[in-house]
Amino acid sequence: MVSEVLQVQKIETQIAKKTLEAPHLSLYKDVDPLDWEDWHWQLKNRIRTKEELSKVINLTPEEEEGLSQAKGRMAMSITPYWLTLIDPHDPNCPIRRQSIPTKYEFIISPHEMVDPCAEDRDSPVAGLVHRYPDRVLILATEQCAMYCRHCTRRRLVGVEHKETILGRLESIVDYLKANRKIRDVLISGGDPLMLEDDILEAVIQKIRAVPSVEFLRIGTRMPVTLPQRVTSGLVSMLRKYSPLWVSLHFNHPKEITKRCKIACDMLADGGIPLGSQTVLLKGINDRPYIMKKLMHELLKIRVRPYYIYQCDLVRGTHHFRTPVAVGINIIEKLRGHTTGYAVPVYVVDGPGGGGKIPVGPNYVLSQAKGKYVLRNYKGKIYTYLEE
Ligand SMILES: *Cc1c(COP(=O)(O)O)cnc(C)c1O
Ligand code: SF4
Repeated sequence: MVSEVLQVQKIETQIAKKTLEAPHLSLYKDVDPLDWEDWHWQLKNRIRTKEELSKVINLTPEEEEGLSQAKGRMAMSITPYWLTLIDPHDPNCPIRRQSIPTKYEFIISPHEMVDPCAEDRDSPVAGLVHRYPDRVLILATEQCAMYCRHCTRRRLVGVEHKETILGRLESIVDYLKANRKIRDVLISGGDPLMLEDDILEAVIQKIRAVPSVEFLRIGTRMPVTLPQRVTSGLVSMLRKYSPLWVSLHFNHPKEITKRCKIACDMLADGGIPLGSQTVLLKGINDRPYIMKKLMHELLKIRVRPYYIYQCDLVRGTHHFRTPVAVGINIIEKLRGHTTGYAVPVYVVDGPGGGGKIPVGPNYVLSQAKGKYVLRNYKGKIYTYLEE
C-alpha cells in the first residue's frame, strides 16, 4: 500500500517536471511542481480579473471592455494551465478567444435566446433535463474550471456558491426510478469533475443503483482545461462504475498538449471510452483543415470525435457563429477523405427544444421506386438498384 502511494507520487512528480517545461510564463516560474500538478492549486489560482490578466497578456481594447463588463454568469475564469497555452501577443489565438471575454459578448442579436435549447422547459425535476425517450441529462454543478465564452449554458454556469447536487439527488433518483424507460444518464453541468471525488462517487453510485439505468456518461471539459484533475484516484473510482463513458469538449488542435494526452491516456488506460464534442466557432475551427487536424489529433489520443455542434443561438455569441453551410462543408471535406472514425456528426440543436438534428452533405441525388442515385465523396455518381 505504502509503496503504491510512493509509486504514484513518483509518477506524478515526473509528470510535473515535464509539464513545468511548458509554463513559459514567468508568472509561474517559482511554482512548486507538486503545486502545479495539484488541481486544487490550479483552481485556487485561476485568473479572474482584468488586473491579473493584463500582467501577462497584451489585452486589446475589445478585451479590456469585455473584461470590465464580464461579471456574474459572464465571469471569466482561466486556469494557470490554460493560461500557459494562450498566445499573449495574438488576439486571434484560439485558446485566448475561447476564454477571454470581449465587448462582442454584450451585443445581443435578434434570434439569440437565454435558453436556446429550452432545457428549462423540459426539466421535470430541478437539475434534470428529459428530452429524449430513453435518456436524460443531469446538470450536476454550476461551476467549470474555465468558462467558455461560447457556452450554451451560460444562464446556469459561473456562479461560485456551491449548492451541491446532493440536495437534489434524491428527487433526481426518484424520477429515474419512476421512469423506467430511462436507460442512459448523462451527467454534465457545469462540469461534474468540479465535484470532489467522494461527492461525484456518491452521485454516480446512487444513479448506477437504479436498476433501469444501464449506461452512464460524464460530460466534462476538465481534461482539456485542467488535465491535472484526472488523477489516479479519480480513474480508479470511475472504473468501478463501468460501463461509464466520458464525453470531452475539444475545439482546437492546440488544446491537445502533452499534458492533456497524459490525462486522456490515464482515462483510456483505465478502460473508459472517450468521445469528443466540438462547437463550430468562427475564426477558431471553421476551416476544414483545422477541423481535420483536430479530429486526427483526437484519434491519436484515443478520443473518438462524436459531434460538431452548430453554435447555439445563445445571447452574446453572434461573433462566434458561422453559417450552417460552413459546418456542412467541413463534413463534406472529411467524409471519405479521411478515417471514418475521424468524422463526427454535425448537428443543429433545434431552437426551442428540438434536440440534436443531424445536418450534412446530401449523398442521395434522387430516389425513385427501387432506384437510388447516389454520389460518392469525389462527386462520382452511382446507381443502386433494390431487388
Ligand atoms: C445531447 C443531449 C442528450 C444526449 O444526446 P445523445 O445524442 O444521445 O448524445 C440527452 N439529453 C439532452 C437534453 C441533450 O441535450
Ligand atoms: S465547460 Fe461546458 S458548461 Fe462549462 S463553460 Fe465550457 S461549454 Fe459551458
